[in-house]
Amino acid sequence: SAKRSGRNDFRFYSKDLTVRAQERLTLESDLRHALERGELALHYQPKVLLGSGAMVGCEALLRWAHPRLGMVPPDQFIPVAEDSGLINELGAWVLRESCLTAVVWNAAAALPRKVAVNLSVRQIQVPGLVAQVQGILAETHCQPQWLEFEITESLLLDEDGLVVNALQALRDMGVTIAIDDFGTGYSALSYLARFPIDTLKIDRSFIHSATTDHFRAELVRAILSIARCLNQQVVAEGVETRVQADFLAAEGCQLAQGYLFSKAVPREQLLAMSDACLALGDMPSEPIAT
Ligand code: C2E
Ligand code: MG
Ligand code: MG
Ligand code: MG
Repeated sequence: SAKRSGRNDFRFYSKDLTVRAQERLTLESDLRHALERGELALHYQPKVLLGSGAMVGCEALLRWAHPRLGMVPPDQFIPVAEDSGLINELGAWVLRESCLTAVVWNAAAALPRKVAVNLSVRQIQVPGLVAQVQGILAETHCQPQWLEFEITESLLLDEDGLVVNALQALRDMGVTIAIDDFGTGYSALSYLARFPIDTLKIDRSFIHSATTDHFRAELVRAILSIARCLNQQVVAEGVETRVQADFLAAEGCQLAQGYLFSKAVPREQLLAMSDACLALGDMPSEPIAT
C-alpha cells in the first residue's frame, strides 16, 4: 500500500541520513590525520593579466589525496574542517606553505607576485588570527604585499565588528583582501564601501554566461563599474574560453583566472611556467550575446 511504501521510503531516507552522518564522521577522523600523513597538498592556480597573459599572482587551493576515496574535493572536506574546528590547524599550514611559495616565487621576479589564500569564517573568528599571520610572515620572511586573503561575502555580515577589525589589522600590515565568489552572496553595496577591500572576484557563474546571456553581461559591466568607483581591482573567475577573455578585456577587466589559462598546479609547476604568457593559443569559440 501507499502507506507502507511511504514508511519504507522514510526508513530508507533515515538510513541514508545515518550513512551520510557516518561518512562525515569518518571523513572528519581521516582529516585529523591527513596532514601528518602527508595526504594534503597545496596547488596554485595562476592569475593573469588579460592583455598579455602574464602571471601576476596565484590562488592556493587545497588538495586531499585520500588513501581509500581518492581525491576529495575541498567543497566536501572544507565544511567538515570548519565544523570540527580543524580548519584552524589546516589554515595555519596552508598559510605557511603559501608564504614559502611566495618567497620562492618572488625571489627572481621583477614585479611583486601575490599568493592568495582562502580564509574561512571560522578562521577569522579566532581572536589570534592577526598575530598568527604576523608570526608566519616573519618566520617565512614573506613580505605582506605578497599575500592576499580571499573571503566570502557572508563574512561581511559582521554584527560584532570582529571581522572588520581583523581585516583592517591585516590591511594595516600590508596584506590585501579580496571578496571571493562576488555576486552570489548577500553583500549590500554599503558593505563594499565600509569594509577594507582591495579586490572583487566575480563569481564564475557570471563569467560562464556573460557571453551568451545579455542580462549577465550587463551584470558583469555593473560590477566592473562599481569596482572602478570604489577603486577596487577585479578578477574574473572561471574563464574557460577565449571569447570570455576577449569580452572581459573589452569591458575593462584586467585580471582573470580560469582553465583557459591554467588549472591549479603544484608549486614546482607554477614556478616553471611563471615567465611564460598563458593562453595565447587558439581556443574554441562561442557566440557573443548582443
Ligand atoms: P574558490 O576559492 O572560489 O576557488 C575557485 C574554484 O574554482 C577552485 O575549485 C578552482 O579549481 C575552480 N576553478 C578555477 N578555474 C575554473 C574554471 O575555469 N572552471 C571551473 N569550472 N572551475 C574553475 P576547488 O579547488 O575545488 O575549490 C573549491 C573551494 O574550496 C574554493 O572555492 C574555496 O572556497 C575552498 N577552498 C579551497 N582551498 C581552500 C583553503 O585552503 N582554505 C579554505 N578555507 N577554503 C579552501
Ligand atoms: Mg578563492
Ligand atoms: Mg571563488
Ligand atoms: Mg568558491
